[in-house]
Amino acid sequence: MSAIDTLWEYLAVALGILVIVGGIALGLLRGRGDRRSDLPPTPPSGGSAIDVDAPPEGAIGTLERPAEVELEPELEAVPPAPEPTPTLERPEAPAGRLRRLRARLARSNSTLGKSLLALLSRGSLDEEAWEEVEDTLLTADFGVAATTDLVDALRTKVAVEGSADEATVRGWLREELVRLVDPTMDRSLVSSRIGDRPACVLVVGVNGTGKTTTVSKLARVFVAEDKDVVLGAADTFRAAAADQLQTWGERVGVPTVRSDRDGADPAAVAFDAVKAAAELEADVVIIDTAGRLQNKVGLMDELGKVKRVIEKQSPVDEVLLVLDATTGQNGMRQAEVFSQVVGITGIVLTKLDGTAKGGIVVAVQRALGVPVKLVGLGEGPDDLAPFDVEAFVDAILD
Ligand code: GDP
Repeated sequence: MSAIDTLWEYLAVALGILVIVGGIALGLLRGRGDRRSDLPPTPPSGGSAIDVDAPPEGAIGTLERPAEVELEPELEAVPPAPEPTPTLERPEAPAGRLRRLRARLARSNSTLGKSLLALLSRGSLDEEAWEEVEDTLLTADFGVAATTDLVDALRTKVAVEGSADEATVRGWLREELVRLVDPTMDRSLVSSRIGDRPACVLVVGVNGTGKTTTVSKLARVFVAEDKDVVLGAADTFRAAAADQLQTWGERVGVPTVRSDRDGADPAAVAFDAVKAAAELEADVVIIDTAGRLQNKVGLMDELGKVKRVIEKQSPVDEVLLVLDATTGQNGMRQAEVFSQVVGITGIVLTKLDGTAKGGIVVAVQRALGVPVKLVGLGEGPDDLAPFDVEAFVDAILD
């Protein structure tokens, strides 16, 4: 073999090695390239791909972040976009709400005003006409005592002044109705801190009267007055009640203290709510309670315990009884039972938009000796109005 042949052999071997090494290098580069194309898509601007804002089920006023997400080692961790602040609703100012909602009252109660005016404006009022006036008032749920009072007062007016034109009669009727509804009663609601503690409002009533809805609406009334509110979902027999409070509360930035366990001790939840309100230095805590239609003893035990347990930490400043205005005499009986069990400081009459029985305002105040402080005039979140005597009477006479 010549020296040239040996040289050719060396060259061939070197070329072979070069081809193999080159191939391996190319393969490695491809591998890295493929890996890059496996990256997750870039999240859209304004938020991370992971929904950190979704509250975990059953959270009480706090948001938990989901577990950290593992990132590919080669990837740079993109700092999470700032959490979008949830836009809070601004509830309507409470003052003047009754005037806004007056049309709803007038629609159902104007029959009462119209028929009274028609009767009283008759040229001469005989016994039969007075009986008709009485019937009209009784049908509107004024109750016997208030009806007799009003008819006597009107009879005296007519006897003294003689028959009069419609405008004068209207004036008398307005004056007497305002007197009956009683503008001297204190209808203010406790909603500011008392000394160094939050005010405490307990809301009671039979289920179905609109109690939980009222608590949710009341939170908005206080928020509109720039108060810091905490809600306590002590109706632990209905998860839906706690859910409603939590959902409505979140819309206006109000935390709800609740139990995740159905049938948990309502007194314990009430206690925790008052404690949380104190820790948060809130202005007011509102506590919803269960109102199962039970016998008086059961009710007394349950509500009595809730109140006693709260009072270990804080006095209860306001006990609001929620009554459904459409239930008439039945509602009145419930009201009496509740007032014997817990001292009532104010009444919330709901569903006044669905009844022509506005006289219940007068009847219930007389029976319990406590004022109607708020009225419900619809299912919307701001359809709860502080009660205003003159606006109410004007709505009836419209
Ligand atoms: P609870 O069982 O006493 O807590 O009653 P809820 O708060 O669950 O209310 C019962 C029903 O009454 C719901 O459908 C409410 O929307 C409705 N409701 C509450 N207040 C009013 C009101 O003022 N007017 C009308 N029309 N409906 C109301």
